[in-house]
Amino acid sequence: MGGLDVPSSTLVTAFPVDLLSREGVQIRRMYANVFLLSSPQGRLLVDTGALNYAPAFSRLLRQFRPDAVLVTHAHVDHAGGAFVAARLGLPLLAHPLEHSQLTGQRHELPYPAGMPGVGAIISRLHPKVPAGALTSVEVGQEILGWEVLHLPGHSHGQIGLMRNGVLIAADAVLSAPDGKGGRRAALPHAPYNADHAQALQTLKRIAEMELRVILPGHGGPLTPEQVRERAGRDS
Ligand SMILES: [Zn+2]
Repeated sequence: MGGLDVPSSTLVTAFPVDLLSREGVQIRRMYANVFLLSSPQGRLLVDTGALNYAPAFSRLLRQFRPDAVLVTHAHVDHAGGAFVAARLGLPLLAHPLEHSQLTGQRHELPYPAGMPGVGAIISRLHPKVPAGALTSVEVGQEILGWEVLHLPGHSHGQIGLMRNGVLIAADAVLSAPDGKGGRRAALPHAPYNADHAQALQTLKRIAEMELRVILPGHGGPLTPEQVRERAGRDS
């Protein structure tokens, strides 16, 4: 992994902008991160942003013209614009365990923390997608050049994508300020995870993978070192 051989001071400046553009990855912040992935196999859009970004997401769909849209998990800040993609007839890909939330058969949202009743109301207020618009993805499947990984814990059916050492990690890990002007890897707090112990396990698994860059669902790119530092803690 050539990228890891350069001194960390160099990593901060040159990394990972060049790497991401070489790998055909662009990031748009629509509350949660939306990823535009271009590979020789086609164009894949990952996550759809929060509902208040739906007009911007709609413009993005028309500009980027993805072959498919993948939702990492059903939380409203990642799936808020999924109904727009469904209306356009784009293939909408998600893990089977997330489908019932995307269609509105189930309303489980861990936001705000510790208030599941309020979370359910917020979920009900969001436009849903018809079951017929959804396609199940399988763990290990390759989609337009990217491998699907199961990253359970934050939600049961959360998935990520990996290609050439680039991991799109959804909310398995977050990027947060480290209080010293830099960034650190963080795990969503326990009330925000469906299964916190499993979320920690997933993070430890990510830390053991051979990666060049980790792209969280919120915040900027993380280095493998930053993720390993967080994964070394026990809660
Ligand atoms: Zn989430």
